[in-house]
Amino acid sequence: MGDKQVLLRGLPKVDEVLQDERLVLFYETMPRPLIVDTVREAVGDVRNGILEGTVDRGLSQDEIMDRITGILSEKKKRTMRRVLNATGVVLHTNLGRARLSSNASGAVWEIMDAYCTLEYDLKSGTRGSRHAIVEGIIKKVTGAEAAMAVNNNAAATMLALAALARGKEVVVSRGELVEVGGSFRIPDVMSESGAFLKEVGTTNKTRISDYRSAYKEGVTGCFMKVHTSNYRIVGFTEDVKLEQMAQLGRELGLPVIYDMGNGLMADLKRYGLDEPTVTDALKSGADVVLFSGDKLLGGPQAGILIGKKEYIDKMKEHPLARAFRVDKMTLAALEATFLQYIDQEAALKEIPVLKMICASPLELKERAEMLGVMLKAACPDLRVQVESCRDQVGGGSAPTCELEGYGVAVWKEGLSAQRMERKLRKAPVPLIVRVNHDRVLVDVRTLSDEEFLPAVEAFSGMEGGES
Ligand SMILES: *Cc1c(COP(=O)(O)O)cnc(C)c1O
Repeated sequence: MGDKQVLLRGLPKVDEVLQDERLVLFYETMPRPLIVDTVREAVGDVRNGILEGTVDRGLSQDEIMDRITGILSEKKKRTMRRVLNATGVVLHTNLGRARLSSNASGAVWEIMDAYCTLEYDLKSGTRGSRHAIVEGIIKKVTGAEAAMAVNNNAAATMLALAALARGKEVVVSRGELVEVGGSFRIPDVMSESGAFLKEVGTTNKTRISDYRSAYKEGVTGCFMKVHTSNYRIVGFTEDVKLEQMAQLGRELGLPVIYDMGNGLMADLKRYGLDEPTVTDALKSGADVVLFSGDKLLGGPQAGILIGKKEYIDKMKEHPLARAFRVDKMTLAALEATFLQYIDQEAALKEIPVLKMICASPLELKERAEMLGVMLKAACPDLRVQVESCRDQVGGGSAPTCELEGYGVAVWKEGLSAQRMERKLRKAPVPLIVRVNHDRVLVDVRTLSDEEFLPAVEAFSGMEGGES
């Protein structure tokens, strides 16, 4: 008991700790009450430890300050943080899908902390339309008659159906009833729109005659085709081409909607990516085409609707358009991204998603060798080896496409790959890697050159031992 009293008396006073110069940096960047609470808690924890007998020696002021600055550093970290994606999955859903081009992030940066022309026409000095910000450029690069942007492609689907087929039937092939991920199913979105799903055909075969016989005058609202973005049906299959559906739609006076998901603007067949492009979709004669802003388009999260003016106008006027409208930062990024597509060849080099998909194996190998050299120089204890690997487009896109990539395999005697992975994830700039055959693989496709240095830094202090 006497010992405990001595230890308790030796505890620093909260007021004293608050004066400690090691807290100066925290006072500059954190609210004072948060620091006071943390100090109280930390000193209180030690006091309780002494009383309960779990702390049986005097802690020096240094030790206590280390604890406090440790806790404060943790509290300072935001939940939303940048990470280094070394997984080789280009559109990594968990890591924010598309990383924006520098043009797009620059556009956001410019208007972010300023007033901007969101709904203001500088020429006339009167109210403008936020739809007009991206409509002109989307029309220009896609050749569509009209265009609008909403929050995401799921919202685009719902808006299109609500505006064009509410209370009516939407005819869709059974082979195209997609679940996008996160248990998000296209049929559920359709029913929420107030349209009724009318399934036709079978999982593997749907014919144009199925659409024709599903049609009922006054009951059918539209035909819809959904791109099977994240799966393929192979073997004994038959599906109806968009051209055929568009033809039948015209004959019956019905709009044909195409949910293409990916929003690929440039033809990437020569890079091994066999996905329909936005221009193909329009050429096929679809009346409305919808796609994501942050899949293969490589822009911010958004849903893009393009097509016939009479239909897009109906959507703009629908009450859901207000509920689904995008904010100024998204519009800025979207406009900048679409502007880059005026020069397609430049877009392939400047839009990160496209650049990463188009990177040649040779280029990736050289970059992996470079990273390997940097790693060896910084961490001589690590075993490092450049390896070829298979990368993915990701984001539920191009499921059968395997990209030939390169990475640096890293391992260390006495340290499991799982433990290494965990440490990398907790680095100041977290490095997200794949684990392969008890080695960690740092894939260079999804790392930019500027990210090599922080990636190497994530490995420093990899001394084995504790987690
Ligand atoms: C990804 C996808 C969606 C959903 O798009 P979000 O932008 O994620 O809402 C809808 N339809 C298809 C075919 C898709 O591939």
